[in-house]
Amino acid sequence: MNIRLRLTLWYTAILFLTLALFSSAVYIGLTRSLMVTLDNHLQREVSEIIGNLKFEHSGEDPEESEEEGNDDDHKIRSGELEIELNYTPEEGVFWRLLAENGQPLRDPGYFEGAAIAPTTLTAGQTQFEYAYATLANGTPIRLYTAPFVIEQQGAGVVQVAESYRHIQEVQRQLLLLLALGLPFILLAAGLGGWFLASNALNPIDRITRAARQISADDLHHRLNLKLPNDEVGRLAATFDQMLARLDDAFERQKRFIADASHEMRTPLTILKGDVEVALNRPRSAGEYRATLDMVNQTTDRLTALVEELFLLARADNHQFPLQLEPFDLVELLRRDVMKLMPRAFEKNISLDLDTPVELQIEADPAKLSRLLLNLIDNAIKYSNSGASVTVTATIEHDQAHIAIADTGPGIDPEHLPHLFERFYRVDQARSRHVAASDGSSGAGLGLSIAAWLAKIHGGRIEVESQVGQGTTFIVWLPRSAPDQS
Ligand code: ADP
Repeated sequence: MNIRLRLTLWYTAILFLTLALFSSAVYIGLTRSLMVTLDNHLQREVSEIIGNLKFEHSGEDPEESEEEGNDDDHKIRSGELEIELNYTPEEGVFWRLLAENGQPLRDPGYFEGAAIAPTTLTAGQTQFEYAYATLANGTPIRLYTAPFVIEQQGAGVVQVAESYRHIQEVQRQLLLLLALGLPFILLAAGLGGWFLASNALNPIDRITRAARQISADDLHHRLNLKLPNDEVGRLAATFDQMLARLDDAFERQKRFIADASHEMRTPLTILKGDVEVALNRPRSAGEYRATLDMVNQTTDRLTALVEELFLLARADNHQFPLQLEPFDLVELLRRDVMKLMPRAFEKNISLDLDTPVELQIEADPAKLSRLLLNLIDNAIKYSNSGASVTVTATIEHDQAHIAIADTGPGIDPEHLPHLFERFYRVDQARSRHVAASDGSSGAGLGLSIAAWLAKIHGGRIEVESQVGQGTTFIVWLPRSAPDQS
């Protein structure tokens, strides 16, 4: 069963229950109110009868006549009791006056033929009852029986009745109205509910249809549904954003694989070329040695490239836990600078270190060393003879601030935003052939790896450069790396 139908059925069922409860409450409430009005009216009539009633005794003492126990007791008593009643009933009110023993005292004849048992009620014990077919014409009546005592005069029972057919008529009409109206209301509500549910769910159908057409190969497709900014609209927009991110990730992945293959192909072609040249005729031992030297260098570059690619793959899979430990950053910088000193000397570049005596931080020394070696090596690699490279380290705002400044050629501003992208090289042809001493491949991966290493330490790398003046890379690191978990 689809959501549309389920929603409509639930909605209609709840509405039905509510209406049924409401209708019952109206029916019961109205009936009771009409009945109470009727009963009040009967009570008023009784009060009027009793209020206008007078017993007058004449002749023999009734006590005595009772003692005689004669059969004509009632007649005699009736004869002796004079009843004065000044009462005109309202239209539709039936009444009679009975003696305590149930014999009629005054009976206008409304109840003729009706078998109303003489009441056994005593004064104060009034009683309301429904009586059907009590009257000769079969009218259903509400009968009120009220015994009474008039001080020093006598006692008796008044019975007053009134038809409640008009109440039955109201009940019947109300039931008819509800019986006809309820299905109609439920039908209208069901249709309305279906329409609303369809309206709310239609966009979801559209999303489903659109999403079905998008496969892994055409992630650049978007739903592009023009929906209002509501829950469903936001769902569609979020879906599009997710597609955009997936598309971007897929594109980067594809580009990465293409770039990596391209980077591998070049050294492999060189390798094959060198070997083929060496093999196309017999060579001297010196020539073979020279070829093997070149092969060795090229395989070194290939190994470095594969290692960098492997590192990035693990970085993408977040499989590169930091081995955090407290250590002296100055000591680490000193060792790195010493490592690159011969290369700087070789290129006639002055390499200086300007730091306080000690800077304690908590980080992964091996990874941080790799980062710094890469930046210092780049500074030496891309600077010309006579330039200088200065490495400084300080603590600023509770962060380690390491600057590697060179007086090299600088970098054109148009390249700066892309510098940390994978495989990005300012001068595509040149950098590949500039020898690297830090074991990097020169494939344009060094800075992206450095930026990622700074990032996993909770830090970042900034670059400032002016063409012809030099370049400064600034590494910011928190004094203690954030918790990996
Ligand atoms: P590569 O492995 O080619 O050195 P990097 O990612 O380390 O790749 O550097 C990217 C590019 O940034 C390099 O091709 C180079 O042109 C430029 N670059 C990096 N450091 C410097 C620097 N200190 N001075 C001038 N250019 C630099």
